[in-house]
Amino acid sequence: MNNLLDKQQLSGEEAVERTLRPQYFREYIGQDKVKEQLEIFIKAAKLRDEALDHVLLFGPPGLGKTTMAAVIANELGVNLKQTSGPVIEKPGDLVAILNDLEPGDVLFIDEIHRMPMVVEEVLYSAMEDFYVDIMIGQGENSRAVHLELPPFTLIGATTRAGMLSNPLRARFGISGHMEYYALEDLTEIVERTADIFEADITHEAAQQLARRSRGTPRIANRLLKRVRDFAQIMGDGQIDDQVTDKALTMLDVDQEGLDYVDQKILRTMIEVYRGGPVGLGTLAVNIAEERETVEDMYEPYLIQQGFIIRTKSGRVATQKAYEHLGYPYPQT
Ligand code: ADP
Repeated sequence: MNNLLDKQQLSGEEAVERTLRPQYFREYIGQDKVKEQLEIFIKAAKLRDEALDHVLLFGPPGLGKTTMAAVIANELGVNLKQTSGPVIEKPGDLVAILNDLEPGDVLFIDEIHRMPMVVEEVLYSAMEDFYVDIMIGQGENSRAVHLELPPFTLIGATTRAGMLSNPLRARFGISGHMEYYALEDLTEIVERTADIFEADITHEAAQQLARRSRGTPRIANRLLKRVRDFAQIMGDGQIDDQVTDKALTMLDVDQEGLDYVDQKILRTMIEVYRGGPVGLGTLAVNIAEERETVEDMYEPYLIQQGFIIRTKSGRVATQKAYEHLGYPYPQT
């Protein structure tokens, strides 16, 4: 089964994702705290006719950070330029992007924690005082060039705020912590997506899908697409509670929304490490996943749902994890 969280697998689905993206705050469901503060700052920036302060969005993948950046640009009525940390390899790459901005534009840098340090350092003066000083040419022919930039808004997205260097983090005036979606909000998102797909879904089925989507719109939308296929082939096209349950079970998504990898993590903790404590690196090696993948994509939800707790000596599986997977909980 595909990794439901992986953005790389997404290229074929990008067009679909784009059609699903809300354009303005009024269409953006959930994340009320982040939305509320941004709406105020955006109004103030527009009143003063200034660029919005730089915004840092952090939270697990698929929660709507890219979507939020696009909404911010739309609300401000400016252009959105989009790139990502690992793509900007050299200072020159960044300068080319910055040089292309118009006053007030939004530059969105996804995975900003993965930007090389030499590039990050160029960003400091750009963010703070809207200029860059760079060296052009090599050896004897090299010279320093001072380039003034128009005022712009940088929106950085990262999975964990702790991965950003202090000088970079300090240059963001606004920061928004994206949370896993509440059941009602995710149900509404599923119903909205079904509407766009012209799929016939019952409210109960939408709720079930939401409950089993790890609080994440990207997963909810992907699962909805698969359940819709299932309903079309195996039934009359209507997505009801029963079809949804069958399809999700077939896709290895359990009643709590844990997928194959989540279950593997918990089983390994219980079977190999007697419930822990076990270090995250060791655990990742055991289940043949990257440490970063486990830390960014899987662990936060397992912790939020109370299947794992983080202790000083490592990760520990909780009684809920034992019970959910049908293991007796050791009473010592
Ligand atoms: P991130 O950048 O955090 O990885 P994205 O912004 O790419 O997440 O969102 C993933 C998908 O979920 C997109 O297709 C988007 O349409 C959908 N989505 C995210 N947030 C919302 C929301 N609040 N309402 C409706 N759809 C959303």
